[in-house]
Amino acid sequence: MLGKHATRPVSSLIETLAILARLYRGRDTVPDDPFGMILWENVGYLIDDERRAALFAEFTERVGLCADDIAAARDTVLLDIARCAGMRPEERVAKRRRIAQITTARAGGDLNAALATLTPAKAAALLRAYPAIGEPGADKIMLFAGLDVRPAVDSNGVRAMLRLGLCREGKSYGVSYRAATAALRTHGKATRAWFTDTYRALKAHGRAVCKRSEPLCVACALSRTCPRTKLKGSY
Ligand code: SF4
Repeated sequence: MLGKHATRPVSSLIETLAILARLYRGRDTVPDDPFGMILWENVGYLIDDERRAALFAEFTERVGLCADDIAAARDTVLLDIARCAGMRPEERVAKRRRIAQITTARAGGDLNAALATLTPAKAAALLRAYPAIGEPGADKIMLFAGLDVRPAVDSNGVRAMLRLGLCREGKSYGVSYRAATAALRTHGKATRAWFTDTYRALKAHGRAVCKRSEPLCVACALSRTCPRTKLKGSY
Protein backbone atom coordinates (compact mmCIF):
# COMPACT_ATOMS: atom_id res chain seq x y z
CA MET A 1 0.00 0.00 0.00
CA LEU A 2 1.22 3.51 -0.76
CA GLY A 3 1.75 5.91 2.11
CA LYS A 4 -0.21 9.15 2.50
CA HIS A 5 2.25 11.27 0.58
CA ALA A 6 3.48 8.72 -1.97
CA THR A 7 2.80 9.13 -5.68
CA ARG A 8 2.09 6.47 -8.28
CA PRO A 9 4.46 5.57 -11.12
CA VAL A 10 4.72 8.25 -13.77
CA SER A 11 3.33 6.05 -16.55
CA SER A 12 0.01 5.68 -14.73
CA LEU A 13 -0.75 9.41 -14.85
CA ILE A 14 -1.45 9.43 -18.58
CA GLU A 15 -3.23 6.05 -18.41
CA THR A 16 -5.42 7.13 -15.49
CA LEU A 17 -6.34 10.45 -17.04
CA ALA A 18 -7.11 8.77 -20.37
CA ILE A 19 -9.72 6.63 -18.59
CA LEU A 20 -11.31 9.71 -17.02
CA ALA A 21 -11.22 11.68 -20.29
CA ARG A 22 -13.14 8.87 -22.02
CA LEU A 23 -15.71 8.75 -19.21
CA TYR A 24 -16.39 12.46 -18.94
CA ARG A 25 -15.85 13.68 -22.50
CA GLY A 26 -17.87 16.81 -23.33
CA ARG A 27 -19.55 17.19 -19.93
CA ASP A 28 -18.41 20.73 -19.13
CA THR A 29 -19.64 23.86 -20.88
CA VAL A 30 -18.35 27.23 -19.72
CA PRO A 31 -17.57 30.50 -21.52
CA ASP A 32 -14.16 30.49 -23.19
CA ASP A 33 -13.42 34.23 -23.36
CA PRO A 34 -11.51 35.74 -20.42
CA PHE A 35 -14.06 38.40 -19.42
CA GLY A 36 -16.91 35.93 -19.65
CA MET A 37 -14.99 33.41 -17.53
CA ILE A 38 -14.34 36.03 -14.84
CA LEU A 39 -18.05 36.88 -14.69
CA TRP A 40 -18.87 33.15 -14.69
CA GLU A 41 -16.71 32.64 -11.58
CA ASN A 42 -18.25 35.65 -9.84
CA VAL A 43 -21.89 35.12 -10.74
CA GLY A 44 -22.61 32.90 -7.75
CA TYR A 45 -21.17 31.36 -4.61
CA LEU A 46 -21.18 27.61 -3.88
CA ILE A 47 -23.68 26.78 -6.62
CA ASP A 48 -23.59 23.98 -9.18
CA ASP A 49 -22.81 24.59 -12.85
CA GLU A 50 -26.45 24.31 -13.94
CA ARG A 51 -27.49 27.09 -11.55
CA ARG A 52 -24.39 29.09 -12.50
CA ALA A 53 -25.27 28.79 -16.20
CA ALA A 54 -28.82 30.03 -15.55
CA LEU A 55 -27.57 33.02 -13.56
CA PHE A 56 -24.91 33.80 -16.16
CA ALA A 57 -27.60 33.82 -18.87
CA GLU A 58 -29.78 36.12 -16.76
CA PHE A 59 -26.83 38.44 -16.12
CA THR A 60 -26.03 38.52 -19.83
CA GLU A 61 -29.62 39.41 -20.73
CA ARG A 62 -30.31 42.00 -18.03
CA VAL A 63 -26.88 43.62 -17.70
CA GLY A 64 -24.60 42.66 -20.59
CA LEU A 65 -21.15 41.22 -21.02
CA CYS A 66 -18.76 44.14 -21.05
CA ALA A 67 -17.29 46.51 -18.47
CA ASP A 68 -19.34 49.49 -19.67
CA ASP A 69 -22.57 47.48 -19.30
CA ILE A 70 -21.74 46.60 -15.70
CA ALA A 71 -20.67 50.14 -14.84
CA ALA A 72 -23.94 51.48 -16.26
CA ALA A 73 -26.19 48.90 -14.59
CA ARG A 74 -28.39 50.02 -11.72
CA ASP A 75 -27.60 48.67 -8.24
CA THR A 76 -31.16 47.36 -7.96
CA VAL A 77 -30.69 45.16 -11.04
CA LEU A 78 -27.30 43.82 -9.90
CA LEU A 79 -28.68 43.17 -6.42
CA ASP A 80 -31.76 41.42 -7.75
CA ILE A 81 -29.59 38.95 -9.70
CA ALA A 82 -27.10 38.57 -6.85
CA ARG A 83 -29.86 37.64 -4.37
CA CYS A 84 -30.56 34.51 -6.42
CA ALA A 85 -26.94 33.36 -6.19
CA GLY A 86 -26.19 32.58 -2.56
CA MET A 87 -25.06 34.37 0.56
CA ARG A 88 -23.90 38.00 0.81
CA PRO A 89 -25.46 39.46 -2.34
CA GLU A 90 -24.13 42.97 -1.57
CA GLU A 91 -20.57 41.61 -1.71
CA ARG A 92 -21.24 40.09 -5.11
CA VAL A 93 -22.56 43.40 -6.42
CA ALA A 94 -19.37 45.09 -5.17
CA LYS A 95 -17.27 42.42 -6.90
CA ARG A 96 -19.04 43.01 -10.20
CA ARG A 97 -18.44 46.73 -9.89
CA ARG A 98 -14.79 45.94 -9.14
CA ILE A 99 -14.56 43.77 -12.27
CA ALA A 100 -15.75 46.71 -14.36
CA GLN A 101 -13.36 49.12 -12.61
CA ILE A 102 -10.29 46.90 -13.12
CA THR A 103 -11.19 46.38 -16.77
CA THR A 104 -11.57 50.09 -17.37
CA ALA A 105 -8.45 51.09 -15.43
CA ARG A 106 -6.05 48.33 -16.49
CA ALA A 107 -7.39 47.01 -19.79
CA GLY A 108 -8.83 50.07 -21.50
CA GLY A 109 -12.35 48.72 -21.10
CA ASP A 110 -11.76 45.56 -23.15
CA LEU A 111 -10.03 42.80 -21.22
CA ASN A 112 -10.06 40.26 -24.05
CA ALA A 113 -8.33 42.67 -26.43
CA ALA A 114 -5.82 43.79 -23.81
CA LEU A 115 -4.80 40.25 -22.88
CA ALA A 116 -4.01 39.45 -26.51
CA THR A 117 -1.25 42.10 -26.44
CA LEU A 118 0.44 40.91 -23.23
CA THR A 119 3.04 38.24 -22.55
CA PRO A 120 1.65 35.16 -20.76
CA ALA A 121 3.26 36.26 -17.48
CA LYS A 122 1.73 39.75 -17.63
CA ALA A 123 -1.63 38.42 -18.79
CA ALA A 124 -1.78 35.98 -15.86
CA ALA A 125 -0.82 38.77 -13.43
CA LEU A 126 -3.65 40.96 -14.74
CA LEU A 127 -6.14 38.11 -14.42
CA ARG A 128 -5.08 37.48 -10.81
CA ALA A 129 -6.09 41.07 -9.97
CA TYR A 130 -9.77 40.19 -10.47
CA PRO A 131 -12.04 38.98 -7.64
CA ALA A 132 -12.24 35.20 -7.09
CA ILE A 133 -9.59 34.38 -9.69
CA GLY A 134 -6.19 33.82 -8.06
CA GLU A 135 -3.57 31.45 -9.45
CA PRO A 136 -5.92 28.52 -10.27
CA GLY A 137 -8.45 30.78 -11.97
CA ALA A 138 -5.77 32.58 -13.96
CA ASP A 139 -4.29 29.27 -15.12
CA LYS A 140 -7.73 28.07 -16.21
CA ILE A 141 -8.49 31.24 -18.16
CA MET A 142 -5.05 31.28 -19.79
CA LEU A 143 -5.55 27.69 -20.91
CA PHE A 144 -9.19 27.77 -22.06
CA ALA A 145 -8.90 31.15 -23.78
CA GLY A 146 -5.89 29.94 -25.75
CA LEU A 147 -3.54 32.50 -24.20
CA ASP A 148 -1.02 29.88 -23.08
CA VAL A 149 -0.52 26.12 -23.08
CA ARG A 150 -0.38 25.39 -19.36
CA PRO A 151 -2.00 22.91 -16.99
CA ALA A 152 -4.94 23.94 -14.82
CA VAL A 153 -7.04 21.97 -12.36
CA ASP A 154 -9.94 22.94 -10.10
CA SER A 155 -10.35 21.95 -6.43
CA ASN A 156 -12.33 18.80 -7.37
CA GLY A 157 -9.51 17.75 -9.65
CA VAL A 158 -6.80 18.41 -7.07
CA ARG A 159 -8.68 16.23 -4.57
CA ALA A 160 -9.02 13.40 -7.10
CA MET A 161 -5.35 13.62 -8.09
CA LEU A 162 -4.24 13.46 -4.45
CA ARG A 163 -6.41 10.41 -3.73
CA LEU A 164 -5.24 8.73 -6.92
CA GLY A 165 -1.64 9.27 -5.89
CA LEU A 166 -0.90 11.41 -8.95
CA CYS A 167 0.68 14.20 -6.89
CA ARG A 168 1.84 14.83 -3.35
CA GLU A 169 -0.25 16.63 -0.73
CA GLY A 170 1.23 19.91 0.52
CA LYS A 171 0.87 21.85 3.75
CA SER A 172 -1.68 24.18 2.14
CA TYR A 173 -4.11 24.06 -0.76
CA GLY A 174 -1.82 26.32 -2.76
CA VAL A 175 1.10 23.92 -2.38
CA SER A 176 -1.08 20.95 -3.34
CA TYR A 177 -2.41 22.88 -6.36
CA ARG A 178 1.12 23.56 -7.58
CA ALA A 179 2.05 19.90 -7.06
CA ALA A 180 -0.95 18.87 -9.18
CA THR A 181 -0.15 21.26 -12.03
CA ALA A 182 3.55 20.36 -11.85
CA ALA A 183 2.67 16.66 -12.24
CA LEU A 184 0.49 17.41 -15.25
CA ARG A 185 3.15 19.64 -16.80
CA THR A 186 5.98 17.17 -16.21
CA HIS A 187 4.27 13.87 -16.94
CA GLY A 188 1.32 14.79 -19.17
CA LYS A 189 1.08 15.79 -22.80
CA ALA A 190 1.92 19.46 -23.33
CA THR A 191 -0.94 20.30 -25.68
CA ARG A 192 -3.95 22.56 -25.14
CA ALA A 193 -6.32 19.72 -26.05
CA TRP A 194 -4.82 17.36 -23.47
CA PHE A 195 -4.76 19.97 -20.71
CA THR A 196 -8.37 21.07 -21.35
CA ASP A 197 -9.66 17.47 -21.57
CA THR A 198 -7.80 16.67 -18.36
CA TYR A 199 -9.21 19.72 -16.56
CA ARG A 200 -12.77 18.76 -17.51
CA ALA A 201 -12.33 15.07 -16.71
CA LEU A 202 -10.77 15.63 -13.27
CA LYS A 203 -13.39 18.24 -12.35
CA ALA A 204 -16.25 15.97 -13.43
CA HIS A 205 -14.77 12.97 -11.61
CA GLY A 206 -14.22 14.93 -8.40
CA ARG A 207 -17.74 16.31 -8.45
CA ALA A 208 -19.64 13.18 -9.47
CA VAL A 209 -17.68 10.29 -7.95
CA CYS A 210 -14.57 11.23 -5.96
CA LYS A 211 -16.63 13.55 -3.76
CA ARG A 212 -15.17 15.53 -0.88
CA SER A 213 -16.80 13.79 2.09
CA GLU A 214 -18.27 10.60 0.61
CA PRO A 215 -16.33 9.32 -2.42
CA LEU A 216 -18.34 6.74 -4.37
CA CYS A 217 -15.50 4.23 -4.62
CA VAL A 218 -17.89 1.37 -5.23
CA ALA A 219 -19.00 3.07 -8.49
CA CYS A 220 -15.56 4.35 -9.49
CA ALA A 221 -13.89 3.11 -12.67
CA LEU A 222 -10.50 3.57 -11.00
CA SER A 223 -11.18 1.71 -7.74
CA ARG A 224 -9.07 -1.31 -8.76
CA THR A 225 -5.89 0.73 -8.98
CA CYS A 226 -6.63 3.72 -6.72
CA PRO A 227 -4.35 3.69 -3.65
CA ARG A 228 -6.94 5.55 -1.52
CA THR A 229 -10.06 3.58 -2.43
CA LYS A 230 -12.45 2.88 0.40
CA LEU A 231 -12.89 -0.62 -1.00
CA LYS A 232 -9.40 -1.58 0.21
CA GLY A 233 -10.05 -0.08 3.63
CA SER A 234 -7.22 2.42 3.14
CA TYR A 235 -9.16 5.61 2.52
S1 SF4 B 1 -11.56 4.82 -5.88
FE1 SF4 B 1 -12.51 6.30 -4.49
S2 SF4 B 1 -10.85 7.61 -3.72
FE2 SF4 B 1 -10.10 6.54 -5.57
S3 SF4 B 1 -10.51 7.94 -7.29
FE3 SF4 B 1 -12.26 6.55 -7.14
S4 SF4 B 1 -13.74 7.61 -5.84
FE4 SF4 B 1 -11.75 8.62 -5.54
